[in-house]
This record gives sequence, structure tokens and C-alpha cells, in this order.
Amino acid sequence: MQQLAIFGGTFDPIHWGHLLIAETALHQVPVEQIIWVPSLNPPHKQAVAFEHRLEMLKLATKDHPKFTVSAIEVNRPGTSYAINTLIDLSATYSHIHWYWIIGLDAFQTLPRWYRGQELAQMCDWLIAPRFLSGETIAQSESICKRVEQELRNQSVSIRWQLLHIPLVGVSSSNIRQLIQTNQSIRYLVTEPVRIYITAHNLYRK
Ligand code: ATP
Repeated sequence: MQQLAIFGGTFDPIHWGHLLIAETALHQVPVEQIIWVPSLNPPHKQAVAFEHRLEMLKLATKDHPKFTVSAIEVNRPGTSYAINTLIDLSATYSHIHWYWIIGLDAFQTLPRWYRGQELAQMCDWLIAPRFLSGETIAQSESICKRVEQELRNQSVSIRWQLLHIPLVGVSSSNIRQLIQTNQSIRYLVTEPVRIYITAHNLYRK
């Protein structure tokens, strides 16, 4: 059975943290491809136009033979729920063992996602530890175990593993803030993405 990983996110904009996570996933699990899926209408976030986020994703990933970008969410108006994305992708790619790449902050909220219990069992979770409030790797592991237990209490069993990435402090919100305060984002995003942001005057107030 073919193994594929989905990396869903707002990608507003895509940054080096995202790329490092995806590259690590490729080396840690035998997935043939990573499908990057920008969220059309993310449930809890406001973002710049989908077309800009999609274009930046394409620019940042185009040279990697195992990265694919999917605009599958444009076919489904309304809030973009992850479970619907997985169902739609499963209709496109058949007989797949799915993995889902996710940051620790987002994974913690999985039990409360729309049809989260169902989604939790439909794929293996590859969790990127995230340096937000000073968590160590050991603390990240116990947070994941807590989520696993929370789901088990709802009779849901999940498969997950932590990705062995160095903790990366970069975030899209941090990048947007740097732009708004006229600071450099060089080396936080790829050079084509940085040029795209400047050319389209994105994230300026
Ligand atoms: P924002 O700062 O706007 O909330 P973000 O940097 O979290 O954005 P998203 O596009 O929302 O970027 O992230 C997609 C996925 O990647 C999420 O699951 C998120 O947790 C994860 N992620 C993003 N940056 C990191 C990072 N530096 N380390 C670990 N996980 C990350």
C-alpha cells in the first residue's frame, strides 16, 4: 500500500519551520510524497487570499521531488475542515495509508476538531514539537500522551509519533509582525517567497 503524508495549514506565509518539518517527516517515515494542503477557509484564522498562499507554497516547494501542492480545498466552499480534506484526497488517491503532519500546538486541539474523533483514527499523526512556551522534547511527548489519553477516554485509539526536529521558534504570525514593523524576514522564508511577499506588498498594514 502506498504511504502519503498530508501537511495541512494556513501557510500565511510558508516558512522554513514548515519545510524543515516536512523534510524530517520524509526521513523518519517511509512516505512517498508529502501533499501540502493550504486551507481555503481555516476554521480559526484570518489569512491573506488563498491564491497568494498557494503561490508561495508552490514557490517554496517546487524543487523538491517529493513535495506536491494540492488546491483541493477550493472545490469545497465554506469552512475547510480537515476531515473533509482527507475524505476528498482519499477519493483522488486510492488505497493509501495516510499520515498527517501537524505541529504540537494544533495536535493538542484535535479532540475538539469537527469530527475530530473520526479523523484521529483515519491516519497516523506525525507531530512536530514546537517551541512556543519553552517546552522540552520530553514535555512535548507527555503532552501527546495526554491527548492520546483524552481520546482513549472517548474510545478512540490513535497512532502517533514525534518528529525529530530541532525546536524551531519561527511562526507565520512572527513573520507577519516583522513585516509590519519593517524588519527583515530574510532566512525565515525562502528567497522566492520573500521576493513574492515584497512584490505583492503582502502583510503590510
Ligand atoms: P500562525 O503563526 O499564523 O499561527 P503557523 O506558523 O502556526 O501560523 P500554520 O500554517 O498555521 O503556520 O502551520 C501549519 C502546521 O505547521 C500547524 O500544524 C503548525 O502547528 C505547524 N507549525 C508551524 N510552524 C511550526 C514550528 N516552527 N514548529 C512546529 N510546528 C510548526
